[in-house]
Amino acid sequence: MSLQVRSQVSLKPFNTFGIDVNANWFVEVHDDAEVREALAYACDRQLPVLLLGGGSNLLLTGDVSALVVRMASRGIRVLHDDDEQVIVESEAGEPWHPFVQWSLEQGLAGLENLSLIPGTVGAAPMQNIGAYGVEIKDVFAGLTALDRQSGELRDFTLEECAFGYRDSVFKQTLDRWVILRVRFKLDRKARLHLDYGPVRQRLAEQGIDHPAPLDVSRAICSIRREKLPDPAELGNAGSFFKNPVISAALAAQIKLGHPGLVAYPQADGRVKLAAGWLIEQAGWKGYREGDAGVHRLQSLVLVNYGAATGTQLHRLARMIQADIAQRFAVTLEMEPNLY
Ligand code: FAD
Ligand code: NAP
Repeated sequence: MSLQVRSQVSLKPFNTFGIDVNANWFVEVHDDAEVREALAYACDRQLPVLLLGGGSNLLLTGDVSALVVRMASRGIRVLHDDDEQVIVESEAGEPWHPFVQWSLEQGLAGLENLSLIPGTVGAAPMQNIGAYGVEIKDVFAGLTALDRQSGELRDFTLEECAFGYRDSVFKQTLDRWVILRVRFKLDRKARLHLDYGPVRQRLAEQGIDHPAPLDVSRAICSIRREKLPDPAELGNAGSFFKNPVISAALAAQIKLGHPGLVAYPQADGRVKLAAGWLIEQAGWKGYREGDAGVHRLQSLVLVNYGAATGTQLHRLARMIQADIAQRFAVTLEMEPNLY
């Protein structure tokens, strides 16, 4: 066996919350063969497997009694280029933001609104990552995954991924697929999405009237750096709750008591609420109990001030969920996967 399986490895550097727990077994895999080898190792010893990318969308609530398999495969290649559209394939272990930057440097548009999201390419389809009006489903051209049950490779089309709002078939069947590589259809001619949040305003402030994709990326990076805590400085996993999508009737009822309700009508007639706004209205902004807290600028982000445990953060999350349910009759669903 060529793999270096280590025991009792601290996962603190491998999750952006900075939760200090150990993996009983830990291995990094760099290609398909090593993924298979790691799965066989776990199967032989009847160990559960936890796949890990950048650890930016999970909450670890205790030592992990499993083989933690960290996806470290690298490689980006152009599969097709017809001067208008370019199909690019990236290995799962490529870090997401450098991949976005690489695409922009090649003059390819499509990923600019998804700038500065932490994590890996392989985990991006898991919750159909999205920001500033773009989700990866909008630029998705397919992926290849390994079926952990049968050991077979399978190519997924857009439809087969069943992408939803921060959701996918992979999130629904967490232990089934290892995403090995992902394909994106990017454009040489940009179709920019600027009408979301403060993007257009930021570009105007910078004196940019005719933005290129790289300008949009830079504007979004600057907005994000102002609003979001950097996990290198303050442990967090980004938005801790999904924005709830509720009936128009319930939204109208909430608005009676809260005229400032932040609500976005959806195509299906329902309404998306800003979860951060609900949490802020309920008085949780800046709340802190021990080292677990709600960020002082962005109520949707739970933070670890140093030594918080996953259990403490989970407890805080449940307190917030209960309070929001009681005040607004709205269910907040956790976004990170819980282990
Ligand atoms: P991990 O946390 O390592 O894993 C997440 C889940 O995917 C786990 O269940 C893991 O087992 C599984 N997994 C990982 N790799 C694979 C694989 N190759 N195959 C199968 N399963 C796998 N998300 C957004 O959607 N939009 C944002 O704007 C955004 N902003 C963020 C900002 C900050 C500061 C932070 C900390 C997080 C943010 N996130 C955002 C959340 C997170 O960065 C993304 O969901 C990201 O795609 C997670 O990637 P990861 O590699 O860190 O996944
Ligand atoms: P924001 O701009 O303060 O907006 C608050 C919420 O309102 C957002 O979550 C967004 O929902 C929604 N929203 C804003 N403008 C909208 C529009 N024109 N149409 C529909 N919905 C709209 O949000 P933010 O916290 O600074 O985040 C900015 C973007 O980055 C958002 O897209 C957010 O999802 C993404 N982000 C995600 C994470 C994560 O971990 N998942 C972390 C940080 C930022 P949506 O979330 O549905 O877009």
